[in-house]
Amino acid sequence: MADVPRLLLARAFLERLHELPRRPWEVGGWLLGYWTEDRAAIVVTHGTPPAVRGTAFGITISGKGHRRRFDEAWACSNGHVTFIGDWHTHPGGPATPSATDHRAMRQLAADRDYGTLEPLIAIASVPRLDHTRSVEVAFYLRRTDGHVLELKATPFEDLPAEARTVPEWPWPRRRRPRRRRPAEVDGRRLSKFHSASTCWKSAIDTALSLRACLQGGAGVCLLRSDSGSGVSR
Ligand SMILES: [Zn+2]
Repeated sequence: MADVPRLLLARAFLERLHELPRRPWEVGGWLLGYWTEDRAAIVVTHGTPPAVRGTAFGITISGKGHRRRFDEAWACSNGHVTFIGDWHTHPGGPATPSATDHRAMRQLAADRDYGTLEPLIAIASVPRLDHTRSVEVAFYLRRTDGHVLELKATPFEDLPAEARTVPEWPWPRRRRPRRRRPAEVDGRRLSKFHSASTCWKSAIDTALSLRACLQGGAGVCLLRSDSGSGVSR
């Protein structure tokens, strides 16, 4: 078997996978980049954004929505950035290839039109709905002898010159839930209800204090706005 190639990965693409919206259905796209001439390394420069919604258990990644992006990347990079495989999500599932994924890799390898004798696939394990758990991405390469290897990716920051001309495509991004700051009184966190009831209590205290003050008739009457109640004479 030939030496295991290194996998170099554009960090921008990896970040897009990490930022995908948490959804209970699979999405996917094409992996674009190139093999180095000596076939010692695979360089993933781009991925095409998801085009259609799959099901909870699968996604068909056809040319629809991806072919156009590929053409753009290929033309802009003078044929340098090309098709090397595809990526998809496993919502709530592990980042390991299913039987369907193995079959898809076999098909990619067999179909000469793809030009991928050794296809690479990326699987992103994405939480189904959870907003806190992170995404895990794994890469698998199918060798010409049919073995499937997991490759560890080394991310890189700056795209090679040939790939920099590929336009930025819009990717769906997860919406982070806005966290409300809980009300704090004397450093204690209070629930909304507690906070509101404290407010009312202050208002009543203030009214009672004011009445006591007026009935007293004499002296200086001060209502302290910071605590909302209290009288000093
Ligand atoms: Zn899969």
